This record gives sequence, C-alpha cells and structure tokens, in this order.
Amino acid sequence: MELSKFCPRCGEETEKLYGEEKKLCPDCYTDVNSLADMPKEMEITTCTVCGRMKHKGRWIEAYSVEDQLGETFSELGEDIDMELQFWEEDEEFFVRVHMYDREIKDHDDVKIEWIEEQCPDCSRFQGGFYKAKIQLRGEGLEQISDDVVDKAAELTNENRKDFLSNVEHVDTGLDFYLSTENMNRKILTMLRDKYNPEIERSYELVGERDGQRVYRNVVSVRID
Ligand SMILES: [Zn+2]
Ligand SMILES: [Zn+2]
Repeated sequence: MELSKFCPRCGEETEKLYGEEKKLCPDCYTDVNSLADMPKEMEITTCTVCGRMKHKGRWIEAYSVEDQLGETFSELGEDIDMELQFWEEDEEFFVRVHMYDREIKDHDDVKIEWIEEQCPDCSRFQGGFYKAKIQLRGEGLEQISDDVVDKAAELTNENRKDFLSNVEHVDTGLDFYLSTENMNRKILTMLRDKYNPEIERSYELVGERDGQRVYRNVVSVRID
C-alpha cells in the first residue's frame, strides 16, 4: 500500500501540509492565510536636517532608504525571513515585502508615507549656523580615513557646497570638518555600510556670529 499526502483544497499531492486546524499545501496556505500581518500603510519620519530616522520614539542613525525600511519592517515578522523591494509610482512609495517560512512564500505591498520633521537636536539650533565634525576613533584608521577623504572628494564633485574643510590628527584619532550636514549624512551612511561603527552625537558651541550662537554638530564614530 502506498500512502501520499494531498491538499484537501486543490487536491494536489504535496510533501508537507501547513496550518493549525485545516492543513493545506504551501500554495493554498498563503491563499487563505498571511504569513505576517502587514499593514496597508506605514509612516516613516525623518529629520530634514541631520537625516536621521525616528524609530519607536527615538532618533536613530539610519540615513539611507534601505536602512530606514530595514528598521521599519524588522519587527513585523519576527519568525519569518523577509526580503524588501521598493518602487515609486505616481509620486507614491511602495514596498513589496516577500516573506518566507520553510517552503511557504507570500508577499504583501505596503504604502509608505514619508514624513519630514526636524528632530529636537536640530531644531534647537534652527537659524544657527553650524557645520559638522566627524570624530573618527578606533583602530586601523588609515584605510577608513582614505575612504572618508575619497567620499568627500566625490561629494565635492557633485556639489561645490560640500567640501572637507580640514582634517586634524589628534591623540585619539582623526577629526574631519565638513561644510554641510548633507555631506555629514552621506559620509556616515558610507561608514555605516562599510564598517558598522558605533555612532554618537553631540553639539559644541564654537562661538557667536551676528549675535547668534554658532554650534557645530559633532558625530563620534568608533570603529573597533
Ligand atoms: Zn492546495
Ligand atoms: Zn536632526
């Protein structure tokens, strides 16, 4: 006697059946069930000045669209594997979430609403003039320093307002002085992608100009 499993919904023979009460083949399972409950729409809030993203009430160092989507979706499907694709259509932004659980495949489309705000750190200094400083700290900084200088040159080529105004060697590492926040953000994205560093922010008062306090945005990047 030969025994085989078959799906009660489509009648196909199948290796495995899935589900709690009613067991179905992988294809039928996702017709009837969803692997994860994806919302139809989600909001992502970013800061217009420093480019950080607001996540669970905190401003975190995620600057690229990929990183921001990754952070947003990571908690939605905890036990399943996900792949994200995104596209724009009629000025709207969508993410297709592919979900995998054993041999079951499923996907959902989620519309993203991008919200722009100023984070509290940046709005404190609204109107004030400041530049950014990246403090690079850690071991083997020569290669990383070259990467920062190369990226800065590339950005200057794209936009004359972006330039590396100074590099200082200090006892604990290297300090890079940048002309714009935009540049700071792009260099931090490059460093994050390549070296996965620890990033901390602070501000320093560097003087006064036209009766306004002048602050510099300081980002400490530690690579171990
Ligand atoms: Zn079936
Ligand atoms: Zn900000």
